[in-house]
Amino acid sequence: MGRNLDSKCKQCRRVGEKLFLKGERCMSPKCAMVKRNYAPGFHGPKGKKRLSDYGLQLQEKQKAKKFYGMLEKQFHLTFVKASKKKGDAGKNFLRALESRLDNVIFRLGWASSRSQARQLVTHGHFTVNGRKTDIPSFAVKVGQVLKIRKSSQSNRYFRNLGEKVKKAERPSWLNFDASDLSAKALHEPKETDLPQNFNVQMIIEYYSK
Ligand code: SF4
Repeated sequence: MGRNLDSKCKQCRRVGEKLFLKGERCMSPKCAMVKRNYAPGFHGPKGKKRLSDYGLQLQEKQKAKKFYGMLEKQFHLTFVKASKKKGDAGKNFLRALESRLDNVIFRLGWASSRSQARQLVTHGHFTVNGRKTDIPSFAVKVGQVLKIRKSSQSNRYFRNLGEKVKKAERPSWLNFDASDLSAKALHEPKETDLPQNFNVQMIIEYYSK
């Protein structure tokens, strides 16, 4: 599987916004967007270029894609599938992105970034309805129960999760049960559970050309 090898902080600086790709560092003064809030490269400090409508749409698409740590093919395919569903295409698309297993693990506070969540998933640390699931793009559905595998619970990483998980701000559609380190999808992500930091309408316009 392909990977985006660009430095995570450069990805934020390129789109001009924090994308929270590095976990706790993103909240600290060490964040590159605090220290160097301009695009990377020789011309970066000279300021932002004025973008055309197409440029703005492309930028919104890139922002969302990097936010979820996805590659173009995968991201576009998710859009195509979501736009074939009944209802609001933008909300369906965001719901599909939010329901990805790697994103759900991150939202539950079981990982400090989506890239860490993706790695934990591919290493087979979780089950969905009792079955080991190691596919980051797996779509979590209403009623499904996620658990940290028994064999992984003794792993130092998961033993130390305790307080961090309790403090995590979870979206309303995910219920966490601390007694057995499990979580259940109660309903589909509501509008308030969807990210507000990019303009999904512009992404629709970009892909509709
Ligand atoms: Fe982006 Fe996080 Fe790097 Fe800040 S620390 S620039 S939010 S990846």
